[in-house]
Amino acid sequence: MSSATQQLQHLLEHAGLRVTQPRLRLLEFFARSSGHFTPEEIWDRLRASGHPISIATLYQNLKTFSEHGLIGEMIGQNGEVRYDTNLEPHAHLVCLRCGRLADITLELPDLRPRGQAQGWLVAQTRVDLQGLCPECQEADLPAP
Ligand SMILES: [Zn+2]
Ligand SMILES: [Zn+2]
Repeated sequence: MSSATQQLQHLLEHAGLRVTQPRLRLLEFFARSSGHFTPEEIWDRLRASGHPISIATLYQNLKTFSEHGLIGEMIGQNGEVRYDTNLEPHAHLVCLRCGRLADITLELPDLRPRGQAQGWLVAQTRVDLQGLCPECQEADLPAP
């Protein structure tokens, strides 16, 4: 067994999860990919890499991984669930034209709610910003 696989195995054990081949393959996918993937995209890529796993097993494990904080979960532009390889706290910037997604780090200055929300404790933030990516801005320029 390679040391990389061993590391992933430890990660599963640490999360209190049983180590199975599909789980190792899925974790491996997240370890070497970066982005925000729908289950279908993950399924396609695993199949293309010669390590197919059943769609039911995939859905089940994505849910389990996300519950254990091994991967992030977010809602895409069209309401679809996507799984995020970036576990650092971050916000998302979405291109309104092509749907491209980028991670950004935001400095949130003051999270003590005032007014109607006074007394609340903020445990988590989710910020989605929308705009135009550089390519789409360029495509928008009038012809010279
Ligand atoms: Zn764009
Ligand atoms: Zn992200």
